[in-house]
Amino acid sequence: MEKDLGKEIMDMRECYRKGNTKHVTWRRAQLKGLLSFVEEKEVEIFRALNLDLGKNYVEAFRDEVGLIKKSLNLALKDLKTWMASKEAKLPSIALLSYAELVPEPLGLILVISSWNFPMGLSLEPLIGAIAAGNAVVIKPSELAAASSSLLANTLPNYLDTQAIKVIEGGPAVGQQLLQHKWDKIFFTGSTKVGRIIVSEAAKNLTPVTLELGGKCPAILDSLSWSWDKEVAINRIIGAKYGSCAGQACISIDYLLVEKPFSSTVVELMKAMIKKMYGDNPRESHSISRIINKHHFLRLKDLLTDQKVKDCIVYGGSMDEGSLFIEPTILVDPPLESAMMTEEIFGPLLPIITLDKIEDSIDFINSRPKPLALYAFTKNEVLKERLVSETSSGSVVFNDAIIQFAADTLPFGGIGESGIGKYHGKFSFDTFTHYKAVARRSLLTDFWYRFPPWNNYKLEL
Ligand code: NAD
Repeated sequence: MEKDLGKEIMDMRECYRKGNTKHVTWRRAQLKGLLSFVEEKEVEIFRALNLDLGKNYVEAFRDEVGLIKKSLNLALKDLKTWMASKEAKLPSIALLSYAELVPEPLGLILVISSWNFPMGLSLEPLIGAIAAGNAVVIKPSELAAASSSLLANTLPNYLDTQAIKVIEGGPAVGQQLLQHKWDKIFFTGSTKVGRIIVSEAAKNLTPVTLELGGKCPAILDSLSWSWDKEVAINRIIGAKYGSCAGQACISIDYLLVEKPFSSTVVELMKAMIKKMYGDNPRESHSISRIINKHHFLRLKDLLTDQKVKDCIVYGGSMDEGSLFIEPTILVDPPLESAMMTEEIFGPLLPIITLDKIEDSIDFINSRPKPLALYAFTKNEVLKERLVSETSSGSVVFNDAIIQFAADTLPFGGIGESGIGKYHGKFSFDTFTHYKAVARRSLLTDFWYRFPPWNNYKLEL
């Protein structure tokens, strides 16, 4: 197995060296091939996502298929502009000159992805990598087995298989792949495995992009009108439970509210959960299931501590057979409990009460930098303070998760939530080296550029 893998990777490097992947026609053909895959296999994609995660196909379209199509159409439209060299100025000492930034592919790329958006997190980086003219290996997550197998068995029919491959497997295969030399590793997953990726990549000084996780806070200010509150609660519940049942890196991990407002928030949330998922959410086809038994038990464990259990104000029921966990709300679980120190990654929402909403700034700053920070407020001073006094991959006011759908915003973390960014043109840049090319005329030079400077001694 390892021998074959080594040979496959060597062949891919050889294919890249021949230069085919650099041509605009190759890049365009691959992007079009990928678009055909997504269009022709749309139903199979929905089926795979439903098998892996119980994802409703509306959710699957909104969070994965629709976004992939949008990114492909953008890349096809803007490819020539992205590939064009950009002019740059040289200093006047380089008289009669001009310079350019010439985008150059990095070479052979390894994409290792996660299971929660198994199509999007594999194909979104692939779009950037092929638009930039690279050869690519994708290793999808073994935990989303139906999606991984669909990618491995069907994608090759649409793409240049000498330059683009899907290699299936778990951590052992990931480790094997990391033993080879890559020109870039693009990793989506946990901070723990992210550290392994960095240390393996360091052996070859391979650059990395790490799309990691963490605990994303949301602040809910006591908004003034009933409709304000309702819109905010709608968006919070939708973002927490309606995107892969909270198994999303930019899901709301916990909610910060002022103490006197918390019981109103809980009541509004209960009503909204009922509206979205009915009286018996277990029967609902609108909420995803937990990916597997391991993660189900991990989430169950977060609730075993009696001090945490006592904080449940809504939900809490679970069914191991169908990997279902009810949308659950807790108020003020102990800050030192695993619920508040580990990424939750599931449909459990702790509400932490504060004396003043402004205290949320210190609360957030005393924890690792999150991938996203959300604040539902109309207080402009608070908004400005949050932007300037906290650090996170992104900040969204009065909504959550929508930043992921924007081509115009860089998507990525900071500190423990990640290194690097992608989406839209940022994806192209992530897989591109901008080579500095300077060109000069031989006609003239300034006299002071070259010695001798014997007549210019500094008297000290
Ligand atoms: P994970 O780190 O366990 O696995 C991610 C990928 O790495 C999988 O393909 C897995 O097979 C592979 N892998 C695991 N161990 C490996 C090893 N030792 N060597 C090489 N490869 C290895 O993470 P996960 O459970 O798939 O995903 C959950 C985490 O990912 C959460 O923390 C979540 O926040 C984060 N995440 C981040 C983003 C983002 O865009 N920032 C998106 C989705 C998920």
